[in-house]
Amino acid sequence: MGEHVETLVIGAGPAGLSAAHALARAGRTVTVLEAQGCVGGAARTLSFDGFRLDVSGRRLSSADPAIRAFWTALLPDELDIAPSALRLEGEGGARSQRGAALGALISAKLRPIANSKTLGEWLTRRFGRRVARRLSAYAEKLWALRPEETPAQPACPSFRSEAGVRPRLGTGQLWKACAEAIGQAGGEIRLERQVSGLRRDRASGVWTVSAITPDGREEVFTADQVISTMPLRELMGALTPTPISLFHACELMYRDQVTVAFAAAPGRRRAPALAEIHGASIKAARARALEGEALALDYYCFEGDALWTADDEALVAQAQVEARRLGLIAAGPVRDAQVVRQRKVHPIHDEACDEHLKMIGLDLRLHFAGLHLAGRAGVHGDSAEDQSIRTGLSAAASVLNRVIAPSRIAA
Ligand SMILES: Cc1cc2nc3c(=O)[nH]c(=O)nc-3n(C[C@H](O)[C@H](O)[C@H](O)COP(=O)(O)OP(=O)(O)OC[C@H]3O[C@@H](n4cnc5c(N)ncnc54)[C@H](O)[C@@H]3O)c2cc1C
Repeated sequence: MGEHVETLVIGAGPAGLSAAHALARAGRTVTVLEAQGCVGGAARTLSFDGFRLDVSGRRLSSADPAIRAFWTALLPDELDIAPSALRLEGEGGARSQRGAALGALISAKLRPIANSKTLGEWLTRRFGRRVARRLSAYAEKLWALRPEETPAQPACPSFRSEAGVRPRLGTGQLWKACAEAIGQAGGEIRLERQVSGLRRDRASGVWTVSAITPDGREEVFTADQVISTMPLRELMGALTPTPISLFHACELMYRDQVTVAFAAAPGRRRAPALAEIHGASIKAARARALEGEALALDYYCFEGDALWTADDEALVAQAQVEARRLGLIAAGPVRDAQVVRQRKVHPIHDEACDEHLKMIGLDLRLHFAGLHLAGRAGVHGDSAEDQSIRTGLSAAASVLNRVIAPSRIAA
């Protein structure tokens, strides 16, 4: 028999930490199990020689005052304004999304964007035909689906570009502060604990959760309730008894990400704060300026494909060539190169996805009471950080209100 906690949270990314923070502050016992050696998930910041790297996002924004109050309370004096700086890059040059606003406004007046069925339609109505063509090329790199085959609703938040705030030391600073606050309120975070199995005892309703440590030991916990932010497909595969909707879970798809960061002498064009790269001849999908002369290129891929398995040296060489073709670095050597691989950071929404999620939701509600889903890959959404935080807070509210049915699957 393992340690018993009231609520076990799987994953110390924004959703899991927001949930744990709400529970610990409400005086509940909560333990977070995190597979990696640091907190923050896809919003973590890694420090290297000479620069910091936000592994995915870089800006927080929310229309919800409660969410804004959440991060302001955690970092009252550490948030800088981050202007909307999204740019489209290609070998032919750069173009700001704002620059396309007039065409987009006319287009949106004629055909309301709310009625768009596919992402392709939504992009054309939101940004106008010319910019939509470029963004479609980016969307295809991201999800490996044509925008005409991608349902509009779950995909369009990826093209939000409003201004927001940014923690001075990177997005991960917020989650380090949150982890500290959880500890001060009596919660616990255990790093390097990869959850591998979850079993619900039908008679008692108690959950048994196993986690593997880096040295291969198994730790076992029991809990009254579980909040999971691990990728939904992996969660379903780890459940006992085997869920009847496992077939649907196995159909859920993800894109993975490789980021190559390095420092180099600046090229003829200033590196953008963030640019989406539409040119098909360039494999990188995003370019981001880091501190000093450092730059990061993000590649989207499938775990196990040629890009994912390429060795670091080859990836750095490829990124160097592409950054030079974009004019972002000068000829010459690069310094301090780093390669970061992230699994399942982009849940894919194809046309069949809603049906799969409906069946999984029904199964969990009927057979796995006390299991609450939260987070981007946890609910299989394409949520920004504020939306991930919201799912964490709403899972915590379900625990506090003793809602036995799991959260519905929607970001
Ligand atoms: C490329 C990219 C750019 C983005 N840009 C922005 C942006 O600019 N602004 C913005 O607001 N949002 C942005 N986002 C979205 C933001 O990063 C996510 O919404 C947020 O990180 C999701 O939080 P989460 O907790 O749901 O998941 P994650 O951040 O993925 O955290 C989940 C955690 O669970 C852990 N985990 C998984 N499986 C297990 C297991 N079996 N056992 C234990 N732990 C496990 C993982 O290690 C991870 O730490 C971006 C995302 C990406 C991928």
